[in-house]
Amino acid sequence: MSLRRFLKKMEEQNKVLHISDDLSPRFEIASVIKAFSNGPVLLFDNVKGYGTKIAANICGTRSRICSALETCPDDLYIKLSDAQKSPMPPKIVEDAPVMEIQKKPDLSEIPVLLHFERDAGPYITAAAVSARSSDGKIENVSVHRLLVLDKNHLAIRIVPRHLFKLWNMAKKEKRDLEIAISIGLHPAILLAAASSPPFGVSEYAVANRLLGGSLRLVKCAEVEAYAPAEAELVIEGKISFEKEVKEGPFVDITGTYDVQRMQPIIEVVNIMHRKDYIYQALLPGGPEHRLLMGLPREAAIYEAVSKAVPKVKAVNLSVGGCGWLHSVISIEKQTEGDGKTALLAAFAAHPSLKHAIVVDSDIDVFNPVEVEWALALRFQASEDLIIIPNARGSTLDPSADQEQGLTSKMGIDATRPLNVPKENFEKARVPVTKKAAEIIDKLRDQLDNDVK
Ligand code: MN
Repeated sequence: MSLRRFLKKMEEQNKVLHISDDLSPRFEIASVIKAFSNGPVLLFDNVKGYGTKIAANICGTRSRICSALETCPDDLYIKLSDAQKSPMPPKIVEDAPVMEIQKKPDLSEIPVLLHFERDAGPYITAAAVSARSSDGKIENVSVHRLLVLDKNHLAIRIVPRHLFKLWNMAKKEKRDLEIAISIGLHPAILLAAASSPPFGVSEYAVANRLLGGSLRLVKCAEVEAYAPAEAELVIEGKISFEKEVKEGPFVDITGTYDVQRMQPIIEVVNIMHRKDYIYQALLPGGPEHRLLMGLPREAAIYEAVSKAVPKVKAVNLSVGGCGWLHSVISIEKQTEGDGKTALLAAFAAHPSLKHAIVVDSDIDVFNPVEVEWALALRFQASEDLIIIPNARGSTLDPSADQEQGLTSKMGIDATRPLNVPKENFEKARVPVTKKAAEIIDKLRDQLDNDVK
Protein backbone atom coordinates (compact mmCIF):
# COMPACT_ATOMS: atom_id res chain seq x y z
CA MET A 1 0.00 0.00 0.00
CA SER A 2 1.64 3.17 -1.16
CA LEU A 3 1.19 6.89 -1.48
CA ARG A 4 1.20 6.58 -5.26
CA ARG A 5 -1.59 4.05 -5.26
CA PHE A 6 -3.66 6.39 -3.07
CA LEU A 7 -2.83 9.33 -5.35
CA LYS A 8 -3.99 7.28 -8.33
CA LYS A 9 -7.28 6.55 -6.58
CA MET A 10 -7.70 10.27 -5.83
CA GLU A 11 -6.92 11.13 -9.49
CA GLU A 12 -9.63 8.71 -10.60
CA GLN A 13 -12.08 10.45 -8.28
CA ASN A 14 -11.04 13.86 -9.63
CA LYS A 15 -9.70 15.00 -6.27
CA VAL A 16 -6.24 16.13 -7.33
CA LEU A 17 -5.39 19.69 -8.33
CA HIS A 18 -2.25 19.83 -10.46
CA ILE A 19 -0.10 22.92 -10.25
CA SER A 20 2.11 23.11 -13.34
CA ASP A 21 3.61 26.57 -12.76
CA ASP A 22 7.11 26.38 -11.31
CA LEU A 23 7.02 27.42 -7.69
CA SER A 24 9.78 27.70 -5.14
CA PRO A 25 9.94 25.51 -2.02
CA ARG A 26 10.84 28.73 -0.26
CA PHE A 27 7.43 30.08 0.92
CA GLU A 28 5.70 29.90 -2.51
CA ILE A 29 4.53 26.29 -2.28
CA ALA A 30 3.51 26.75 1.37
CA SER A 31 1.41 29.79 0.43
CA VAL A 32 -0.46 27.80 -2.23
CA ILE A 33 -1.05 24.90 0.20
CA LYS A 34 -2.41 27.40 2.74
CA ALA A 35 -4.79 28.92 0.18
CA PHE A 36 -6.31 25.51 -0.67
CA SER A 37 -5.87 23.73 2.64
CA ASN A 38 -9.51 22.71 2.98
CA GLY A 39 -9.60 21.48 -0.56
CA PRO A 40 -8.24 18.78 -2.83
CA VAL A 41 -4.94 16.91 -2.91
CA LEU A 42 -2.30 19.22 -4.39
CA LEU A 43 0.34 17.97 -6.78
CA PHE A 44 3.12 20.42 -7.63
CA ASP A 45 4.41 19.06 -10.94
CA ASN A 46 7.20 21.63 -11.34
CA VAL A 47 9.26 22.62 -8.35
CA LYS A 48 11.68 25.44 -9.05
CA GLY A 49 15.26 24.17 -8.93
CA TYR A 50 14.29 20.50 -8.44
CA GLY A 51 13.25 17.62 -10.62
CA THR A 52 11.02 16.25 -7.88
CA LYS A 53 7.24 16.55 -7.61
CA ILE A 54 5.64 17.56 -4.33
CA ALA A 55 2.33 16.18 -3.05
CA ALA A 56 0.48 18.03 -0.31
CA ASN A 57 -2.83 18.06 1.52
CA ILE A 58 -3.09 14.27 1.16
CA CYS A 59 -5.03 13.87 4.43
CA GLY A 60 -6.63 17.31 4.27
CA THR A 61 -10.22 16.22 4.92
CA ARG A 62 -11.94 13.67 7.12
CA SER A 63 -13.61 12.08 4.15
CA ARG A 64 -10.27 11.58 2.40
CA ILE A 65 -8.84 9.85 5.48
CA CYS A 66 -11.91 7.61 5.62
CA SER A 67 -11.47 6.82 1.94
CA ALA A 68 -7.79 5.93 2.54
CA LEU A 69 -8.79 3.56 5.36
CA GLU A 70 -11.76 2.26 3.38
CA THR A 71 -14.17 3.10 6.17
CA CYS A 72 -16.95 5.59 6.92
CA PRO A 73 -16.98 8.37 9.56
CA ASP A 74 -19.21 6.33 11.89
CA ASP A 75 -16.76 3.40 11.97
CA LEU A 76 -13.50 5.37 11.89
CA TYR A 77 -12.82 5.51 15.64
CA ILE A 78 -13.59 1.83 16.09
CA LYS A 79 -11.28 0.96 13.21
CA LEU A 80 -8.48 3.06 14.72
CA SER A 81 -8.93 1.63 18.26
CA ASP A 82 -9.21 -1.95 17.00
CA ALA A 83 -5.97 -1.57 15.05
CA GLN A 84 -4.20 -0.44 18.22
CA LYS A 85 -5.61 -3.39 20.15
CA SER A 86 -4.72 -5.96 17.52
CA PRO A 87 -1.43 -4.88 15.94
CA MET A 88 -0.16 -7.17 13.19
CA PRO A 89 3.61 -7.18 12.52
CA PRO A 90 4.30 -6.47 8.84
CA LYS A 91 6.28 -8.83 6.61
CA ILE A 92 9.92 -7.89 6.05
CA VAL A 93 11.06 -8.03 2.43
CA GLU A 94 14.57 -8.00 0.94
CA ASP A 95 14.01 -5.84 -2.08
CA ALA A 96 11.90 -2.72 -2.21
CA PRO A 97 10.88 0.04 -4.63
CA VAL A 98 12.33 2.64 -2.25
CA MET A 99 15.81 1.10 -2.68
CA GLU A 100 15.92 1.90 -6.39
CA ILE A 101 18.37 4.78 -5.91
CA GLN A 102 20.93 4.85 -3.10
CA LYS A 103 23.30 7.71 -2.61
CA LYS A 104 25.59 9.65 -0.36
CA PRO A 105 23.53 12.03 1.70
CA ASP A 106 22.86 15.49 0.33
CA LEU A 107 19.72 16.97 1.86
CA SER A 108 19.94 20.01 -0.43
CA GLU A 109 18.78 17.77 -3.29
CA ILE A 110 15.40 17.26 -1.55
CA PRO A 111 12.81 20.05 -1.98
CA VAL A 112 12.14 20.54 1.73
CA LEU A 113 9.74 23.44 2.25
CA LEU A 114 10.37 26.65 4.09
CA HIS A 115 6.88 27.38 5.45
CA PHE A 116 6.56 30.45 7.68
CA GLU A 117 8.47 33.72 7.66
CA ARG A 118 10.17 33.28 11.04
CA ASP A 119 10.78 29.50 10.83
CA ALA A 120 14.40 28.59 11.61
CA GLY A 121 14.80 26.98 8.18
CA PRO A 122 13.34 24.31 5.90
CA TYR A 123 11.48 21.64 7.87
CA ILE A 124 10.53 18.08 6.95
CA THR A 125 7.02 17.74 8.37
CA ALA A 126 5.39 14.59 6.96
CA ALA A 127 7.92 11.95 7.96
CA ALA A 128 7.53 8.80 10.03
CA VAL A 129 10.60 8.27 12.19
CA SER A 130 11.22 4.67 13.24
CA ALA A 131 13.73 3.26 15.68
CA ARG A 132 14.37 0.05 17.59
CA SER A 133 15.87 -0.67 20.99
CA SER A 134 19.40 -2.12 20.88
CA ASP A 135 18.09 -5.64 21.57
CA GLY A 136 15.65 -5.16 18.66
CA LYS A 137 12.65 -6.02 20.83
CA ILE A 138 10.97 -2.63 20.91
CA GLU A 139 10.14 -0.57 17.86
CA ASN A 140 8.56 2.85 17.76
CA VAL A 141 7.31 4.92 14.85
CA SER A 142 6.32 8.54 15.34
CA VAL A 143 6.03 11.85 13.52
CA HIS A 144 8.59 14.56 14.28
CA ARG A 145 9.51 17.89 12.78
CA LEU A 146 13.00 17.86 11.30
CA LEU A 147 15.02 21.00 10.64
CA VAL A 148 17.54 20.82 7.81
CA LEU A 149 20.86 22.10 9.21
CA ASP A 150 23.19 21.29 6.30
CA LYS A 151 23.81 18.62 3.67
CA ASN A 152 23.92 15.76 6.14
CA HIS A 153 22.52 17.02 9.45
CA LEU A 154 19.04 17.54 10.81
CA ALA A 155 17.70 18.70 14.17
CA ILE A 156 14.81 16.69 15.58
CA ARG A 157 12.21 17.81 18.09
CA ILE A 158 11.57 14.93 20.50
CA VAL A 159 8.81 15.46 23.06
CA PRO A 160 8.99 13.13 26.10
CA ARG A 161 7.10 10.21 24.58
CA HIS A 162 8.20 6.91 23.09
CA LEU A 163 11.05 7.93 20.77
CA PHE A 164 12.40 9.99 23.66
CA LYS A 165 12.39 6.83 25.77
CA LEU A 166 14.31 4.86 23.12
CA TRP A 167 16.76 7.74 22.71
CA ASN A 168 17.34 7.80 26.49
CA MET A 169 17.92 4.04 26.49
CA ALA A 170 20.57 4.52 23.78
CA LYS A 171 22.05 7.47 25.68
CA LYS A 172 22.60 5.28 28.73
CA GLU A 173 24.56 2.87 26.52
CA LYS A 174 26.48 5.85 25.10
CA ARG A 175 25.40 5.09 21.57
CA ASP A 176 23.53 7.00 18.88
CA LEU A 177 19.99 5.92 18.07
CA GLU A 178 19.71 4.66 14.50
CA ILE A 179 16.59 5.77 12.67
CA ALA A 180 14.73 5.59 9.38
CA ILE A 181 12.98 8.78 8.30
CA SER A 182 10.35 7.72 5.78
CA ILE A 183 8.60 10.22 3.52
CA GLY A 184 5.80 9.76 0.98
CA LEU A 185 3.63 7.24 2.78
CA HIS A 186 0.14 5.85 2.52
CA PRO A 187 -2.15 7.86 4.89
CA ALA A 188 -2.67 4.81 7.13
CA ILE A 189 1.03 4.76 8.02
CA LEU A 190 1.13 8.45 8.92
CA LEU A 191 -2.08 8.11 10.93
CA ALA A 192 -0.70 5.10 12.82
CA ALA A 193 2.56 6.96 13.46
CA ALA A 194 0.52 9.85 14.88
CA SER A 195 -1.32 7.51 17.25
CA SER A 196 0.04 6.40 20.58
CA PRO A 197 -0.39 2.71 21.38
CA PRO A 198 1.43 1.53 24.53
CA PHE A 199 5.24 1.57 24.50
CA GLY A 200 6.41 -1.68 22.94
CA VAL A 201 3.69 -1.77 20.30
CA SER A 202 5.13 -0.82 16.91
CA GLU A 203 3.00 1.69 15.04
CA TYR A 204 4.00 -0.18 11.86
CA ALA A 205 2.00 -3.14 13.21
CA VAL A 206 -0.95 -0.79 13.82
CA ALA A 207 -0.63 0.54 10.25
CA ASN A 208 -0.42 -3.00 8.90
CA ARG A 209 -3.70 -3.88 10.65
CA LEU A 210 -5.31 -0.73 9.21
CA LEU A 211 -4.10 -1.82 5.77
CA GLY A 212 -5.42 -5.36 6.13
CA GLY A 213 -1.95 -6.92 6.32
CA SER A 214 -0.54 -5.41 3.13
CA LEU A 215 2.28 -3.31 4.63
CA ARG A 216 5.81 -4.44 3.82
CA LEU A 217 8.97 -3.25 5.53
CA VAL A 218 12.55 -3.28 4.42
CA LYS A 219 15.71 -3.04 6.51
CA CYS A 220 17.70 0.11 5.85
CA ALA A 221 21.02 -0.18 4.03
CA GLU A 222 23.24 1.53 6.62
CA VAL A 223 21.34 1.55 9.92
CA GLU A 224 19.43 -0.88 12.13
CA ALA A 225 16.00 0.54 11.34
CA TYR A 226 13.09 -0.43 9.12
CA ALA A 227 11.14 1.57 6.56
CA PRO A 228 7.99 0.93 4.49
CA ALA A 229 9.13 -0.81 1.31
CA GLU A 230 6.85 1.39 -0.78
CA ALA A 231 7.88 4.72 0.74
CA GLU A 232 8.94 7.36 -1.74
CA LEU A 233 12.08 8.43 0.11
CA VAL A 234 13.98 7.21 3.17
CA ILE A 235 16.63 9.19 5.02
CA GLU A 236 18.80 6.97 7.21
CA GLY A 237 20.39 8.61 10.20
CA LYS A 238 21.66 8.47 13.75
CA ILE A 239 20.31 10.63 16.56
CA SER A 240 23.36 11.74 18.50
CA PHE A 241 23.40 10.77 22.16
CA GLU A 242 25.38 13.91 23.01
CA LYS A 243 25.24 16.58 20.29
CA GLU A 244 22.43 19.09 20.54
CA VAL A 245 21.54 22.28 18.71
CA LYS A 246 19.06 25.14 19.07
CA GLU A 247 15.87 24.00 17.34
CA GLY A 248 13.10 26.41 16.31
CA PRO A 249 11.35 28.74 16.01
CA PHE A 250 8.84 26.63 14.15
CA VAL A 251 5.12 27.06 13.61
CA ASP A 252 3.43 24.01 15.11
CA ILE A 253 -0.17 22.77 15.29
CA THR A 254 -1.36 25.94 17.05
CA GLY A 255 -0.36 28.24 14.19
CA THR A 256 1.98 30.14 16.53
CA TYR A 257 5.77 29.96 16.74
CA ASP A 258 6.98 27.28 19.14
CA VAL A 259 9.88 28.41 21.33
CA GLN A 260 13.54 27.52 20.70
CA ARG A 261 14.94 24.56 22.62
CA MET A 262 18.15 22.53 22.64
CA GLN A 263 17.35 19.36 20.69
CA PRO A 264 19.43 16.44 19.39
CA ILE A 265 21.25 16.44 16.06
CA ILE A 266 20.79 13.68 13.49
CA GLU A 267 23.70 12.69 11.29
CA VAL A 268 22.36 11.48 7.95
CA VAL A 269 24.32 8.48 6.70
CA ASN A 270 22.39 7.35 3.64
CA ILE A 271 19.48 8.34 1.43
CA MET A 272 17.45 6.00 -0.71
CA HIS A 273 14.47 6.75 -2.92
CA ARG A 274 12.44 5.71 -5.91
CA LYS A 275 13.81 6.93 -9.23
CA ASP A 276 10.98 9.46 -9.72
CA TYR A 277 10.16 9.96 -6.05
CA ILE A 278 7.39 12.29 -4.89
CA TYR A 279 8.20 14.43 -1.87
CA GLN A 280 5.33 14.74 0.58
CA ALA A 281 4.80 18.13 2.22
CA LEU A 282 2.49 19.06 5.07
CA LEU A 283 1.70 22.61 6.11
CA PRO A 284 2.13 22.97 9.89
CA GLY A 285 -0.94 24.30 11.67
CA GLY A 286 -3.17 23.56 8.67
CA PRO A 287 -6.24 21.29 8.68
CA GLU A 288 -4.18 18.30 7.56
CA HIS A 289 -1.76 18.65 10.48
CA ARG A 290 -4.68 19.02 12.89
CA LEU A 291 -6.53 16.01 11.48
CA LEU A 292 -3.52 13.71 11.48
CA MET A 293 -2.59 14.59 15.03
CA GLY A 294 -6.14 14.92 16.29
CA LEU A 295 -7.94 11.90 14.80
CA PRO A 296 -6.10 9.22 16.82
CA ARG A 297 -6.81 11.29 19.97
CA GLU A 298 -10.47 11.60 19.04
CA ALA A 299 -10.53 7.81 18.83
CA ALA A 300 -8.86 7.58 22.26
CA ILE A 301 -11.38 10.02 23.77
CA TYR A 302 -14.26 8.15 22.12
CA GLU A 303 -13.07 4.90 23.62
CA ALA A 304 -12.42 6.26 27.12
CA VAL A 305 -15.73 8.13 27.32
CA SER A 306 -17.58 5.07 25.98
CA LYS A 307 -16.31 3.13 28.97
CA ALA A 308 -17.48 5.84 31.38
CA VAL A 309 -20.98 6.64 30.08
CA PRO A 310 -23.50 4.40 28.28
CA LYS A 311 -23.46 5.98 24.80
CA VAL A 312 -21.11 8.36 23.01
CA LYS A 313 -22.30 9.69 19.68
CA ALA A 314 -19.42 11.77 18.34
CA VAL A 315 -16.15 13.45 19.25
CA ASN A 316 -14.59 16.49 17.61
CA LEU A 317 -11.17 17.94 18.37
CA SER A 318 -12.27 21.21 16.82
CA VAL A 319 -10.33 23.11 14.17
CA GLY A 320 -10.45 26.33 16.22
CA GLY A 321 -8.93 24.45 19.14
CA CYS A 322 -6.02 23.50 16.86
CA GLY A 323 -7.35 19.94 16.50
CA TRP A 324 -5.60 19.31 19.80
CA LEU A 325 -6.67 21.51 22.73
CA HIS A 326 -10.48 21.64 22.47
CA SER A 327 -12.91 18.77 22.32
CA VAL A 328 -16.66 18.61 21.86
CA ILE A 329 -18.25 15.30 22.79
CA SER A 330 -21.88 14.34 22.29
CA ILE A 331 -23.47 11.69 24.50
CA GLU A 332 -26.85 10.15 25.17
CA LYS A 333 -27.25 11.20 28.77
CA GLN A 334 -29.01 8.68 30.99
CA THR A 335 -28.19 9.75 34.52
CA GLU A 336 -27.48 13.13 36.04
CA GLY A 337 -23.70 13.43 36.25
CA ASP A 338 -22.99 11.58 32.98
CA GLY A 339 -21.77 14.88 31.50
CA LYS A 340 -19.13 15.38 34.16
CA THR A 341 -18.03 11.74 34.07
CA ALA A 342 -17.55 12.13 30.32
CA LEU A 343 -15.43 15.25 30.87
CA LEU A 344 -13.15 13.48 33.35
CA ALA A 345 -12.71 10.51 31.03
CA ALA A 346 -11.86 12.82 28.12
CA PHE A 347 -9.18 14.67 30.10
CA ALA A 348 -7.65 11.35 31.15
CA ALA A 349 -7.63 10.02 27.59
CA HIS A 350 -5.85 12.98 26.02
CA PRO A 351 -3.45 14.75 28.42
CA SER A 352 -3.01 17.77 26.13
CA LEU A 353 -6.76 18.49 26.19
CA LYS A 354 -7.42 21.90 27.72
CA HIS A 355 -11.13 22.70 27.25
CA ALA A 356 -13.83 20.09 26.81
CA ILE A 357 -17.54 20.52 26.16
CA VAL A 358 -20.09 17.73 26.52
CA VAL A 359 -23.39 18.11 24.68
CA ASP A 360 -26.49 15.97 24.09
CA SER A 361 -26.71 13.74 21.04
CA ASP A 362 -29.05 16.14 19.18
CA ILE A 363 -26.18 18.63 18.87
CA ASP A 364 -23.80 18.34 15.92
CA VAL A 365 -20.31 18.46 17.45
CA PHE A 366 -18.87 19.62 14.12
CA ASN A 367 -21.14 22.69 13.99
CA PRO A 368 -19.75 25.47 16.23
CA VAL A 369 -23.01 27.42 16.07
CA GLU A 370 -25.01 24.45 17.41
CA VAL A 371 -22.43 23.90 20.14
CA GLU A 372 -22.69 27.55 21.18
CA TRP A 373 -26.49 27.22 21.10
CA ALA A 374 -26.23 24.33 23.57
CA LEU A 375 -23.96 26.45 25.74
CA ALA A 376 -26.47 29.29 25.65
CA LEU A 377 -29.47 27.15 26.63
CA ARG A 378 -28.28 24.06 28.50
CA PHE A 379 -25.40 25.29 30.61
CA GLN A 380 -25.22 27.04 33.99
CA ALA A 381 -21.69 28.05 34.96
CA SER A 382 -22.34 27.79 38.72
CA GLU A 383 -23.37 24.12 38.37
CA ASP A 384 -21.93 22.74 35.18
CA LEU A 385 -18.38 24.02 35.05
CA ILE A 386 -15.28 22.26 36.33
CA ILE A 387 -11.83 23.85 36.53
CA ILE A 388 -8.68 21.84 37.18
CA PRO A 389 -5.71 24.10 37.91
CA ASN A 390 -2.06 23.09 37.36
CA ALA A 391 -2.69 19.91 35.41
CA ARG A 392 -0.39 18.45 32.77
CA GLY A 393 -1.10 20.06 29.43
CA SER A 394 0.36 20.93 26.07
CA THR A 395 3.69 22.77 25.91
CA LEU A 396 2.50 24.32 22.64
CA ASP A 397 0.01 26.66 24.35
CA PRO A 398 1.67 30.06 24.92
CA SER A 399 -0.78 30.88 27.75
CA ALA A 400 0.31 27.78 29.72
CA ASP A 401 3.43 27.23 31.80
CA GLN A 402 5.49 25.96 28.84
CA GLU A 403 8.54 25.13 30.94
CA GLN A 404 6.76 22.71 33.25
CA GLY A 405 3.96 21.81 30.86
CA LEU A 406 1.27 22.84 33.34
CA THR A 407 -2.07 24.35 32.43
CA SER A 408 -5.59 24.97 33.76
CA LYS A 409 -8.29 22.77 32.31
CA MET A 410 -11.95 23.63 31.92
CA GLY A 411 -14.79 21.20 31.45
CA ILE A 412 -18.24 22.37 30.41
CA ASP A 413 -21.25 20.14 30.85
CA ALA A 414 -23.76 21.54 28.36
CA THR A 415 -26.12 18.57 28.51
CA ARG A 416 -29.70 19.33 29.49
CA PRO A 417 -30.61 18.64 33.13
CA LEU A 418 -32.85 15.58 33.48
CA ASN A 419 -35.14 17.12 36.12
CA VAL A 420 -36.51 19.72 33.71
CA PRO A 421 -39.00 18.54 31.05
CA LYS A 422 -37.21 17.51 27.82
CA GLU A 423 -39.63 19.60 25.76
CA ASN A 424 -38.13 22.81 27.20
CA PHE A 425 -34.90 22.04 25.36
CA GLU A 426 -36.37 20.68 22.15
CA LYS A 427 -34.99 22.07 18.90
CA ALA A 428 -38.21 23.24 17.22
CA ARG A 429 -38.76 21.91 13.71
CA VAL A 430 -40.95 22.96 10.79
CA PRO A 431 -42.62 19.87 9.27
CA VAL A 432 -41.41 19.41 5.67
CA THR A 433 -43.88 17.75 3.30
CA LYS A 434 -42.68 15.68 0.33
CA LYS A 435 -43.78 18.43 -2.03
CA ALA A 436 -42.01 21.15 -0.06
CA ALA A 437 -38.82 19.06 0.04
CA GLU A 438 -38.88 18.66 -3.75
CA ILE A 439 -39.39 22.38 -4.27
CA ILE A 440 -36.59 23.22 -1.84
CA ASP A 441 -34.24 20.93 -3.80
CA LYS A 442 -35.29 22.56 -7.08
CA LEU A 443 -34.76 26.06 -5.68
CA ARG A 444 -31.31 25.05 -4.36
CA ASP A 445 -30.29 23.84 -7.82
CA GLN A 446 -31.59 27.08 -9.29
CA LEU A 447 -29.58 29.09 -6.79
CA ASP A 448 -26.44 27.12 -7.55
CA ASN A 449 -26.81 27.52 -11.32
CA ASP A 450 -28.47 30.84 -12.01
CA VAL A 451 -28.41 33.29 -9.17
CA LYS A 452 -24.91 34.64 -8.58
MN1 MN B 1 4.77 4.61 20.29
